[in-house]
Amino acid sequence: MKIIPALLAAALLAAPATAAPGDAAEAKALLMDSVGFASVQGRGQTPALARFYRDWLVARGFAASDFQIEELAGTAMLHFTWRAPKAKAPPMALTGHLDVVAANPADWVRDPFKAAAEGGMIYGRGVMDNKFDVAMLLATLARLKAAGFTPGRDVHLFLSGDEETDGVTSAAQAKQAKALGIEYMLNSDGGGGALDAAGAPFAYKLQASEKSYADFTLTITDPGGHSSTPGASNAIARAGLVAARIAGHRWPAQVDAITQASLAAAGAARTDELGAAMRRFAADPTDAAAIATLRVNPGTIGQIATTCVPTMISGGHAPNALPQRVTITVNCRIFPGTGIDAVKAELARIAEDPGVVFGTGIDWPVTPPSPLRADVVDAVAAAVKTRKAAVKPTPGMDAGATDSVFWRALGIPSYGVSGLFIRAEDAFAHGLNERVPEAAIAPGLQHWDVLLRRLAS
Ligand SMILES: [Zn+2]
Repeated sequence: MKIIPALLAAALLAAPATAAPGDAAEAKALLMDSVGFASVQGRGQTPALARFYRDWLVARGFAASDFQIEELAGTAMLHFTWRAPKAKAPPMALTGHLDVVAANPADWVRDPFKAAAEGGMIYGRGVMDNKFDVAMLLATLARLKAAGFTPGRDVHLFLSGDEETDGVTSAAQAKQAKALGIEYMLNSDGGGGALDAAGAPFAYKLQASEKSYADFTLTITDPGGHSSTPGASNAIARAGLVAARIAGHRWPAQVDAITQASLAAAGAARTDELGAAMRRFAADPTDAAAIATLRVNPGTIGQIATTCVPTMISGGHAPNALPQRVTITVNCRIFPGTGIDAVKAELARIAEDPGVVFGTGIDWPVTPPSPLRADVVDAVAAAVKTRKAAVKPTPGMDAGATDSVFWRALGIPSYGVSGLFIRAEDAFAHGLNERVPEAAIAPGLQHWDVLLRRLAS
C-alpha cells in the first residue's frame, strides 16, 4: 500500500525534469498495458503479469535465464538478477508488487482494468499502487541497458504477488534476499513526493520505517435463548461496549529518530496550530498539549502512537433469538519496536470483559526502523534535486505497511523511494478512480535513473 505524506503543506515553484520523449512514451505504454492485467487476489492474472514484465525486459536485451517466476499461494512472484560483470560491492535489491487491491467496476466511472488517459491523467486500478513505479523501474532498467550501463554490483529485482493481502510471497522473497546477502533494498512502493495544489513539488518522504500490522478477532459468546426472555447478559451489547472502549483508548505517545525528524520537518513547513504541535512534540515528546493536538488529527495520530480500531463486526443468528456469538475485528497499526503480544495484552485490559476470546488474523512482523545510510540518503537527495525544486527528502515512517516489513524483520535495511510526486487530492490508491498524472512519467524515469546510476554502478 502506498500512503502519500499526510503531514504537509506549503509551496515552492518548480520546473519538471525531463527524460527523452520516446522513453516516456514507452514507459507510459508499459504502465497502461500493465493495468490491463487484473492482478487482484483470486483472479489468476498475477502470473500473466509477471510473464508480461519478464517478456518486456527480455525483448529489451536482458537474458531470459536471469528471470524466475514462481507461483505460490495462489499468486506469483518475479525475481530478476542483473549480474555485474565484476561485482565491486555486495548485491542490492529493488522491490515492488504485482498485485492490486480489488475494484468493483460498477462503482467506477471507467473500467478499472482498462487504463484510460484523459485530461492529463491515467486512470486504472493499480496505476498508482504500485504499477506506476514498477513500470518506471522496468523502463529505467531498459534505458540503462540501452545506454550501455553495466552494474558494479548484482542488482536483484523482486516483485511480490500478494503485498495487498497475505504477504506470503513478500515473506518468501525477503528470505531469498537474506540468503543472497542483499546489503539493502529500495522499495518502489513506499515514500514519494507531494505536489501542492498548483502542481509544484514541496515535500519528499524517504520511507525508512513503518508500522507493523495486526488484525485481532474478539469473540463474545453467550448462552442465547428466546428473545422474549432476555437475561442480564447480551452478547451484542457486551461487544458494543468492548468496541467503544477500544475505539476510545488513548495509546501512549511514542517517538523514534525517524518520526522525530519527519515531524520536525513537517512542522517547520507549516504555520498553523498543527505545525506548532508537530514542532513542540519533536522537541519534547512528553508535551501533553502537543500530543492532544496531534492525537485528534487523522494525519498525525498514526505518527505518534500505535492505533487500534474496530473495523468489522458480525453476530447474532435470528431476529427473534438472543445472540449466541458476536465477533469484532480490531485492526492495529503498531509503532516500530512494539511487540504484538504487548498490544494484545493491552487490548484485553481495555476490553474489561474477561469473557472475550482473542484470535489473531494477519499479523506482520515487528520491525525496527532502518538506519539512515548516507549513500542512500545522498542518492535520494540527488534524485529529488532533478525536480528543480528546493525540496530535501525527509526520513519518514509509514503508518501502513509494505513488503519492507518482512525485509526489515530479517535485518535488511529497506527504504521506500517511490519516484512519484502527486497532489494529495489526486492520490486515490486503494480507492475509486485511482489515477496518476501523465506528467509524472518523465521525472519518474529521471528519478530511478539517478538512483540506479549512483547506487548500482
Ligand atoms: Zn502498494
